[in-house]
Amino acid sequence: MRRIAHFINGSSHEHGAREGQVWNPSHGEVQAHVGFGDRDTLQQAVDAALAVQPEWAATNPQRRARVMFKFKELVEANMDQLAEMLSAEHGKVIADAKGDVQRGLEVIEFCCGIPHALKGEYTQGAGPGIDVYSMRQPLGIGAGITPFNFPAMIPMWMFGPAIACGNAFILKPSERDPSVPVRLAELMKEAGLPDGILNVVHGDKEMVDAILDHPDIKGVSFVGSSDIAQYIYSRGVAAGKRVQAFGGAKNHGIVLPDADLDQVVNDLTGAAFGSAGERCMALPVVVPVGDDTADALRAKLVPAIDKLKVGVSNDPEAHYGPVVNEAHKKRVEDYIALCEQEGGELVVDGRGFTLQGHEKGFFVGPTLFDHVKPEFRSYQEEIFGPVLQIVRADSFEEAVRLPSEHPYGNGVAIFTRNGHAAREFAARVQVGMVGVNVPIPVPVAYHTFGGWKRSGFGDTNQHGMEGVKFWTRIKTVTQRWPDGSAAGDHKDAFVIPTMG
Ligand code: NAD
Repeated sequence: MRRIAHFINGSSHEHGAREGQVWNPSHGEVQAHVGFGDRDTLQQAVDAALAVQPEWAATNPQRRARVMFKFKELVEANMDQLAEMLSAEHGKVIADAKGDVQRGLEVIEFCCGIPHALKGEYTQGAGPGIDVYSMRQPLGIGAGITPFNFPAMIPMWMFGPAIACGNAFILKPSERDPSVPVRLAELMKEAGLPDGILNVVHGDKEMVDAILDHPDIKGVSFVGSSDIAQYIYSRGVAAGKRVQAFGGAKNHGIVLPDADLDQVVNDLTGAAFGSAGERCMALPVVVPVGDDTADALRAKLVPAIDKLKVGVSNDPEAHYGPVVNEAHKKRVEDYIALCEQEGGELVVDGRGFTLQGHEKGFFVGPTLFDHVKPEFRSYQEEIFGPVLQIVRADSFEEAVRLPSEHPYGNGVAIFTRNGHAAREFAARVQVGMVGVNVPIPVPVAYHTFGGWKRSGFGDTNQHGMEGVKFWTRIKTVTQRWPDGSAAGDHKDAFVIPTMG
């Protein structure tokens, strides 16, 4: 059986006894084993990084950008292979897998402009003969810990800016779909990145804890579920690191009575069920305002859901594929049972779905609930599956309040033709990313990505200028070049300097 090894100092590193299984979710079979590293494995990666990072940091930024340009070309040339590899381990359909790679590549495109993004500030004549300037310097070694649901995009969100800024990087990808991250590291090497600047180590909590405790790792970026994000944030900060940790989500789609319902249904089916609902920017909750809107929306949603085709991940006709593993399938089905017990009206039940010829696959059919109440645990918590809950609101005010009071605050969308209402909503809602007639408002690479409340711990967002800020420290220099002729009694040296 195929073995997936660590990638340290530019080559494949065999692993010890501990390993994990990598499944093919469409077939319900183990397709590879991935080696789980420990503190010694991490130390090898850190040693490799420490040996080369100072030279990489001293390489001028346009040369570092050229590696990014070349990497972008290589990823594009390998797009089909990457998408197939990704789809076979994750379960998302090929077109969606290509989107995963492409959205990551857009951050790499941003990194091609890193010389511009790293420019500091300068003030000439801040005092008599005094100039002040600032520079952004890399942290040293950064680490990224990533979730299973975007195995290409999220690693690129992190290692692109970190490396372009002059850091070395250690990536600990999800153990459920680790092949694409390793392939990306190989392509970075092919693009001209020196060995040791990008290392990939595999593992579970043991490896994550080793990263959080390691004194030579100065910054940690995490994306995953909220309890783990909070743990990573607390432990990393306690160890003196810079940490950003992004968590789970429960995004709401607000539908005002004047919305174009056909458009909403089209957008909602993709945003709620695409990638089997395993997106942190999915829309698993829809909030129609007024019963008339709710009834009309539901009447259009049900036939649209009936038309969805669930299939194996490389079926070009399938709208979405299986969920990632057996345990996750059970978790999603348990939440469906819970919502029913709590009093939700089960309109379409996706449990027990099987695909002929792929009976062992981890499929869950599309599921729709109506009359879900805010106090339900199945509403408060993230399901992360193809389950859409309708929560009816009586007023615009209630529609603003529901996502604002929800524990998660990643994304939200409003569907309306009323510009004033949309503007009010965007300004008042307590959520980090807002879509106006855009169901999945993932910001473009040169803006930044990040949620509020339990969806994000830390102060900086992913990518854009926030990514540059996260992966660098600012240093400010105040300089004076005396002409050598002025000699005084130095009394001035004893008072705090002012520039007046
Ligand atoms: P997860 O939290 O289970 O795993 C994420 C990473 O943490 C993995 O690398 C895993 O190995 C590691 N990990 C798991 N358990 C750990 C533990 N006890 N201690 C230390 N490390 C541990 O998340 P997942 O299931 O891979 O991904 C899905 C979750 O990620 C969902 O909650 C989803 O909403 C979230 N997500 C959030 C964003 C965002 O930007 N906010 C983006 C994508 C996914």
